Amino acid sequence: MGAEPRAIPPSPQVNTLLQHSPYQPPSGFNAVQPATHRASTVIFANVAAMRAREWRRKTGYTYGLHGTPTTFTLEARLAEIEGANHALLCPSGLSAIALVNLALLQQGDAVMLPANVYNPSRDMAQRLLCGWGITLQVYNPQDLVATRAAITPSTRLLWLEAPGSVTMEMPDLRGLVALAQQHGLVTAIDNTWGAGLAIKPFALGIGISMQALTKYQSGGADVLMGAVLTRDEALQDKLLDAHMRLGLGVSGDDASLVLRGLHSLHLRYHAHDEAARRVASWLQGRHDVQALLHPAFPSCPGHTHWVRDCSAAAGLFSFTFQPQIPAARVDAFVDALCLFKIGYSWGGPVSLVVPYDVAAMRGASWPYASPLVRLSIGLEDPQDLISDLDQAMRVALG
Ligand SMILES: *Cc1c(COP(=O)(O)O)cnc(C)c1O
Repeated sequence: MGAEPRAIPPSPQVNTLLQHSPYQPPSGFNAVQPATHRASTVIFANVAAMRAREWRRKTGYTYGLHGTPTTFTLEARLAEIEGANHALLCPSGLSAIALVNLALLQQGDAVMLPANVYNPSRDMAQRLLCGWGITLQVYNPQDLVATRAAITPSTRLLWLEAPGSVTMEMPDLRGLVALAQQHGLVTAIDNTWGAGLAIKPFALGIGISMQALTKYQSGGADVLMGAVLTRDEALQDKLLDAHMRLGLGVSGDDASLVLRGLHSLHLRYHAHDEAARRVASWLQGRHDVQALLHPAFPSCPGHTHWVRDCSAAAGLFSFTFQPQIPAARVDAFVDALCLFKIGYSWGGPVSLVVPYDVAAMRGASWPYASPLVRLSIGLEDPQDLISDLDQAMRVALG
C-alpha cells in the first residue's frame, strides 16, 4: 500500500511507453465521489513487499480480486449503514447467498430455509447443496412451534427472509432468532427488502445480513451486486476465507455506480415506501381485489411483526384478485398496464409488475385461487400509477 511506482527507463519504445505512462494519481485532489479503481494486477514496490502481502485478511491491496480502494470504500459504507463490522461484496445477490452457504455448511449439515424464501435460494439448496451431502429443511416462518420441531442435531444454519419473497408474510424475527440461539444455529437474513434501512438485523441478534445491492442500493436497475455483512469476527473469518477461495470479485465500475446510488438511498427508499402505500391503499378499496399483501397493512400475515421490528417498508408488495377472476384475465390486466413494465427485480426507478402462480410455485398451502400480482413501485407519481392500474382493470376485468 502507498508504495511509489518504480521509475520508467530512459527512451522507451512506443509500445513500452503505451504501457508505462508517466501518469501519477493526483494528490491534493478531492471530490464528492471516490475514484474508480480498476485493477486485476496491483503493483508491488519490491519483491519483499510482494512476499509480505496479506491477501487473506484484506489488510492491503494484493490483487484486484481481493479488493481495490473503490470496493473497500463501498464495503465500509455498507457496514456503516447497517451497523456491521465487516462487509464483503459479491457479483450478485444470489452469489452472496451462495457465499454464506458455502462458507458455513459442510457435508452432513442441514440448512433451514423458510417456505417463502427467494426461490433461486431454495433451488440452490435443492440442486447443488443436496448433491454435496447437505440436507435442506424447509420451515414455515409463521409457525415457531413447527419450526422448533423441525430442527435436528445436524441443523447448522437458519435462513430468515423478511418479508417472504412474493407472498410478503412478515416472520417473527425475534422469536426465530431466540429459537436459533437456543439450538446453537447461525442465523442469516436475506435483508434485500430492508436495504439496511427498514430492518436492523444486528440489533435483533442476527449473525449475518445478506443483501442484493441490485435492488435499492443501486437504484438504477443497471447493476448486479450483492453483499454479506456481519459483526462477528469468527463468522467474518469463515466468510472471508470462502470469498477469497471462490473468486467472488466485483468491478470498480460497478462498485462506483452503487457508491453513487447510496447518496440517494434513504430518500429513494422512503419515496418508494410512501408511493407504494398510496397505491396499496387504493387497491385495497377495489371490489376486484381479494387480498392486499403489504407488510404495513393489517391484511398482511405477520403485520404485527412489521409494526414491532421495522421502521419503514420497501416499495414492493403483492395482491390477489377475487377468486372468480381467471388467470387469463389477470394476464390481460398485466398486459394492459402502461407505466408498470413486465420484468424481474425491483427497487429501480421504473415500476414493475409480475404475475405469479403461487399454488404451482409453493404447493397446496396457498389460500387464494386467482394468481398473485406483485408490484414494485418506482419513482413515478403515485397518482399516475393508480390511474394506470385503474385503466388496466377496466380494460381487462370490465
Ligand atoms: C433479487 C433478489 C436476490 C438476488 O439478487 P441478484 O442480484 O438478482 O442475484 C436475492 N434475494 C432477494 C430477496 C431478491 O429479491
